Amino acid sequence: MSLCKQIVSYLEENRDVFISASCDIWDHPELAFHEDYACARLTGLLEGEGFQITPHVAGMSTAFVAQWGAGAPVVGIMGEYDALPNLSQQAEHTERAPIVEGGPGHGCGHNLLGTGSAAAAIAVRHYLEDHGLPGTVRFYGCPAEEGGSGKAYMARAGLFQDLDAAFCWHPSRYLSPWMARMNAITAAEFWFQGVAAHAASAPHMGRSALDACELMNVGANYLREHLPPTAKLHYAYLDAGGKAPNIIPERAGLKYIVRSSTIEDAVAVRKRVEDIARGAALMTGTTVSIRYTEGSSNYVPNIVLTQLMGQAVEEVGPIIYDEADYALARKIRDSLSGDCTKGIAWEFTGLSADEAREYYQTHVLYDRPGKFIDREYHAPASTDVGDVSHCVPTAQVEVPCYTIGTPNHTWQMTAQTRSTIGQKGMLEAAKCIAVCAAKLFDDRDGGLIRAARQEFERTVGSGSYVCPFPDDLTPPR
Ligand SMILES: [Zn+2]
Repeated sequence: MSLCKQIVSYLEENRDVFISASCDIWDHPELAFHEDYACARLTGLLEGEGFQITPHVAGMSTAFVAQWGAGAPVVGIMGEYDALPNLSQQAEHTERAPIVEGGPGHGCGHNLLGTGSAAAAIAVRHYLEDHGLPGTVRFYGCPAEEGGSGKAYMARAGLFQDLDAAFCWHPSRYLSPWMARMNAITAAEFWFQGVAAHAASAPHMGRSALDACELMNVGANYLREHLPPTAKLHYAYLDAGGKAPNIIPERAGLKYIVRSSTIEDAVAVRKRVEDIARGAALMTGTTVSIRYTEGSSNYVPNIVLTQLMGQAVEEVGPIIYDEADYALARKIRDSLSGDCTKGIAWEFTGLSADEAREYYQTHVLYDRPGKFIDREYHAPASTDVGDVSHCVPTAQVEVPCYTIGTPNHTWQMTAQTRSTIGQKGMLEAAKCIAVCAAKLFDDRDGGLIRAARQEFERTVGSGSYVCPFPDDLTPPR
């Protein structure tokens, strides 16, 4: 039996085990850094398969590492399991129907992501055992992907440093190895403290925190002309200092986000924004405190590994849907407003832009095969897998888990991440990652790992990891 057939048949035989774990995590949606149930559920699953567990890594109670095997090569598979606020929704319901009004829900499919990655690690562990192969497979339980930068804390703690390769995936609309580079992001809050005073009778006694915010924004907007070509600056008021114009505002705050194609540029811009904040404080006689919130490095796909992922995707083949899946997908499509297929990425479908658009309009589920497509592409969004890609050669795969046109982070997504559509996607992802990882263990002379490492040294470079936030920032829980 081929490597692919062995992996696929293991995962198919045990599909109910993994589907039930993904449903349990969906039933207990937890926000970033509070994923106690998901963490325990996946830890239990991996422990039952003989993995050695290191809990509470990198100062986070819901981060863990599970390891099986010994010696080289060492391959890591990352899973996430945090939910999103306000996205509670009944499974498979195609009208808005929260289970808990205002409660969290798996509107990004991380119940599938975490479980699919754990399933891949378990499938690889059985492949190694069945063939008496040397090496170590590790599952990384990664909290707080949604804005919490869980993997950046783990990267800062050096947890990925001894890996030969790392893999991850994300629920998506289409099937493809992940070729896109993604932006680095770094964010900070700026809180100004002034002195309150009556605006008419004693304005000379007051020092306005709101004035400081406004001057900071003026300064930052003048900085725009001098940003590196790929950098973007976003800001929002967190507190505009109150609602009474006759009181000099004593406290006000802003949040700034800087994105750029490299983490070095993003950090350099953030430092200039910090100087502007200090300048605004000096001008207004206020003080400023800077609170870093999150950050992720730019994602650099390792092409050697991404190509290998492409082979795995081709061997595994497309997802086979049945009439019930299509019926649910058609209902979901009907619940979406406007032309929901507009602007969906097509670059890695193997179709032209026009062909992809027609396909998206005429198909509710992505049932085409996926393959590696060699194309330079820079996605404007960010992911904390970026931090891992700066520590070790990393590859990812995008796997369809919902109806084409479903926007990310919506109740429609929550409805589908506990459905056969989502579950088929999760098993597909587990198969692709496990086949790809098993190929590395099977490659006895280590040529693939050497080639991936050589590319990594050229594009990223060992020991060059720059944490997107200062060392004194600790996880919130
Ligand atoms: Zn996500």
